[in-house]
Amino acid sequence: MNKTIIVSNRLPLQISIEQDQLNVTPSVGGLATGMKSVHADGNGLWVGWTGITDEELDADLKKEVDAKVKDVKCKAVGLTQDDIDQFYLGFSNRTLWPLFHYFLEYTEFEDSQWEAYKRVNQKFAEVVLDTIEDGDTVWIHDYQLLLLPQLIKDVKPEVTIGFFLHIPFPSYEIFRTFPWREELLTGMLGADLIGFHTYDYERHFLSSVKRILRLDVNFNEITYHDRIVKVDSFPMGIDYNKFHDAALEHDNPNTEISELQKRIDTHLNEDGDKKLILSIDRLDYTKGIPNRIRAFEYFLNKHPEYKEKVRLVMLAVPSRSGVPQYQLLKKETDELVGRINGEFSTVSWTPIWYFYRSLPFENLIDLYTSSDIALITPVRDGMNLVAKEYVATRTKQDGVLILSEMAGAAKEMNEALLINPNSFEDFASALKKALTMPLEEQNNRMKILQKRLKRYDVEKWADEFFKTLEATNKLQDVVV
Ligand code: UDP
Repeated sequence: MNKTIIVSNRLPLQISIEQDQLNVTPSVGGLATGMKSVHADGNGLWVGWTGITDEELDADLKKEVDAKVKDVKCKAVGLTQDDIDQFYLGFSNRTLWPLFHYFLEYTEFEDSQWEAYKRVNQKFAEVVLDTIEDGDTVWIHDYQLLLLPQLIKDVKPEVTIGFFLHIPFPSYEIFRTFPWREELLTGMLGADLIGFHTYDYERHFLSSVKRILRLDVNFNEITYHDRIVKVDSFPMGIDYNKFHDAALEHDNPNTEISELQKRIDTHLNEDGDKKLILSIDRLDYTKGIPNRIRAFEYFLNKHPEYKEKVRLVMLAVPSRSGVPQYQLLKKETDELVGRINGEFSTVSWTPIWYFYRSLPFENLIDLYTSSDIALITPVRDGMNLVAKEYVATRTKQDGVLILSEMAGAAKEMNEALLINPNSFEDFASALKKALTMPLEEQNNRMKILQKRLKRYDVEKWADEFFKTLEATNKLQDVVV
């Protein structure tokens, strides 16, 4: 029976070693949910890094890890601390991440890190090639593994390879600055199907292929070494029912009320017309956090009648704190929150509630369901699932989503209030509009958004990609 191999930088599990005892727990992220049917139900295997470096494992422990990981249909790629520093924190997060999100000024072009990127992609290739057979299918994920499709195709031309990029693909004018641009593109072209979240990213990729590699591109098909590589867009959805059902459960009077919910309720009950504005992101410079705080200050100055009436609840999840720009961003955010709270606070009101941590799922539901407005304003974002999760939890179909037009999600969420995240005027007028929007209009917008998100959930996304990958395989037979 043919196998399906999923490859991503991290395996969908958490491993910890406590008192020489190894614990493996599956993680329940969006990607793992989407892959469920491919991975768990079928003849699937997931290849990736466990989160533990080679240095942390002696030979016995490594054997144990391999066995435990195998039990949950996974296979580990061993990475050293140096790999993590150079390939992950280095090339992936200091070169590809900023460049692909249009942060050229943060982008480092370091030869040694590029070498590490190639070396680690080769390590992934070796693990995949060790188990793969003709007729198998591979689905590779994301920007850490852009060279992997070709590394596999070179050795095993008879396997079908899909690749999906979870971040934006930048315009040609940005991509052309990348010193290893040919190698990166040819690495990706080892795939038979290349997927992006939006049509724009797809167009940008095709344009780079045409102009840099000078290949023939016919609509969304590239002719490359007697093969056809198909390129398409597949906007990733969420596990809609999980969020919606959790919100219904939250509304149930028999459900226990969390400490966080009690605090929120106290605020909301202080005065009848208090409103909560919510933002949730990883603390990443692409998310536009300092700009959002400044825009909130601008709004309070422009519409002082909302002082003491609205509160911005900002959850910033710690991320990549080993990279200097993230440390600077943390400092900037702390200072801005401090300054604005200092400037506006009264005895009974603090304008910004700021949490720097990650919260358990139940608390995310508390925040989503209690907030009148979600203010999601990245300066650049491949998709943005938080915007979709907020919509899924609005069981009474009230609430307003204000969303940056620079998020991939904006392409499917026209009924949100879409803004340019660089414009304070846009922020202020969208906030005003959201705060005064009649309930009927909120309902109308929410209903349409919910219907679309329910239909195109994460399983549907995986199914669509897979179906197209299978069809691409047939296309190759015709070409031969
Ligand atoms: N999230 C989480 N814990 C938190 C806050 C958020 O697990 O404390 C989740 C959130 O539910 C969402 C994901 O993190 O599914 C963020 O995805 P998104 O696409 O919005 O941004 P990314 O972090 O992938 O850039």
